[in-house]
Amino acid sequence: MNLDSLYQEIILDHYKKPLGSGLQDNFSGEAFHVNTSCGDEVTVRVLLDGNQILNMTHEGVGCSISRASASVLHALTKEETTETFHVLLDNFVDLMHSQGKVVPDEEVLGDAAAFAGVSKYPARVKCALLPWMAMKDAIEGAGNE
Ligand code: ZN
Repeated sequence: MNLDSLYQEIILDHYKKPLGSGLQDNFSGEAFHVNTSCGDEVTVRVLLDGNQILNMTHEGVGCSISRASASVLHALTKEETTETFHVLLDNFVDLMHSQGKVVPDEEVLGDAAAFAGVSKYPARVKCALLPWMAMKDAIEGAGNE
């Protein structure tokens, strides 16, 4: 199995069995984002304790890439700090804007590295980034309350 099909498999697995799907009642910040070019919608809720991310949950409709990306994000950020989230976000944004030219750092990105191939398709980059941008806003919103 080559790397591309392995990556596709990871994305499909997350799409079929999304982690963190279903909004938690108890949360510190929330954001709703829409990707008009594809029709994806996602609501993200974060539960924080100081800078500690206790849990991130999501609910939405959309393509396999946007839904899988939310699932990966849940797994990557659970019980991490908001600082770690921002490091991951910077890495992921760089990867998504690389047009397929950057080799992802799996040590840092884990399953999010599987989206490397998506960066070759500008129309799909927004799908992959949608839940990440929603989570960024949810964390910022939590800080202001
Ligand atoms: Zn999409």
